[in-house]
Amino acid sequence: MSMNGSINFALTDEQREIQMLAREFAKNEIAPVAEHYDKTHEYPWPVVKKAQEMGFTFLNVPEQYGGMGFSLFEEVLVGEELAWGCSGMSTAIVVNGLAILPVLVAGNEEQKKEYGGRLANGQMAAYCLTEPEAGSDVAGIKTRAIKNGDHYILNGSKTFITGATVSDFYTVFAYTDPEKKYNGMSCFVVHRDWEGVSVGKPFDKMGQHASDTAEVIFEDVKVPANCLLGEEGMGFLIAMKVFDRSRPGTASGALGLARRALEESITYAKTRMAMGKPIWRHQAIGHKIADMAMELEAARLLVWKSAWAVDAGVKNTTISAFAKAYAADAAMKIATEAVQVFGGYGYMSEYPVEKLMRDAKIFQIYEGTSQIQRNIVVRELFRK
Ligand SMILES: Cc1cc2nc3c(=O)[nH]c(=O)nc-3n(C[C@H](O)[C@H](O)[C@H](O)COP(=O)(O)OP(=O)(O)OC[C@H]3O[C@@H](n4cnc5c(N)ncnc54)[C@H](O)[C@@H]3O)c2cc1C
Repeated sequence: MSMNGSINFALTDEQREIQMLAREFAKNEIAPVAEHYDKTHEYPWPVVKKAQEMGFTFLNVPEQYGGMGFSLFEEVLVGEELAWGCSGMSTAIVVNGLAILPVLVAGNEEQKKEYGGRLANGQMAAYCLTEPEAGSDVAGIKTRAIKNGDHYILNGSKTFITGATVSDFYTVFAYTDPEKKYNGMSCFVVHRDWEGVSVGKPFDKMGQHASDTAEVIFEDVKVPANCLLGEEGMGFLIAMKVFDRSRPGTASGALGLARRALEESITYAKTRMAMGKPIWRHQAIGHKIADMAMELEAARLLVWKSAWAVDAGVKNTTISAFAKAYAADAAMKIATEAVQVFGGYGYMSEYPVEKLMRDAKIFQIYEGTSQIQRNIVVRELFRK
């Protein structure tokens, strides 16, 4: 898509090249081992290491800090391709891009250089917002950071944190002044090896087994004052700004999964015979696959537009919510329909679509549930 303001749905040569690199990586490095990591629940270190060499773990870090300096549009091209291979592995790879966003959105020059540079040098990071009693209700978090001279004392627990067990540092949201509610939250960088930081065992979950999800606990952690991002009280605003930028990327993962489900369905429907013809020639199946393709295309247009809006500096809260909710709901529907196309084989783990259906569900939950995306749309529509 052209970034010069005019509308052009054709990719530039450079964008196509990026897309092809990611496509080859997904085909050669991710897809062949997707079943292994799904079954073993191991963290896919060998793949993540190769992804680091390709720069996929620091796509959004600007070049002056050692990163790839990709636009969000280029990021979503990569996101779709990696998730085509396995959305669990792509989540494990691209979570760094989410974790570094508070630094990029609110950090000073020194912080961007330090933490952007760490990712470019092979470190991993995680984004710590959710707590056991507050997910959708961001303002309901309980973690506290109390100023004490040249540092803060941090206490609280975060849960469902992607990349928790493998991270070198965390971006963490905590109240510095709970009385002020939305204006009393702040955001910090916290190092994994600081005293008082502990990480739980990875949770067992429905899908995306290649991505680790665990608790991160802070007990009297001494956080130097220079690890505050932006100013005290900016935390809630930072979280919302991060979501506007991160949601197109998350939605691009849903596209990759949905495209895989569509492709697997087409291949299968050509060879599976029923009542004397390949099943796609039964209109019920043919139309189902046509709908899957149509929804995928519509979702991709929303994701592309939402990423384009960020790159063009256009406010994208509504369109990011559209993209995240629509792509997530489409991925869930398309993966479920793929299982239907496969019939009984679709329900069996040895066929690929069973995993896709389990993996798809999370897109409707993390980075703001499909209900929360609709709440955002309502808020924006009725604000006017
Ligand atoms: C695998 C996985 C990885 C994750 N990774 C991260 C991560 O890296 N970092 C991080 O900070 N968090 C992460 N999360 C947390 C995730 O973002 C939250 O689970 C999600 O935002 C929902 O919060 P909750 O689980 O507390 O559900 P709740 O907020 O309790 O919601 C429960 C249900 O109520 C609905 N609901 C709640 N409030 C409203 C409302 N106002 N209107 C309508 N419906 C509502 C929700 O849509 C949902 O259906 C992850 C979660 C999972 C499962």
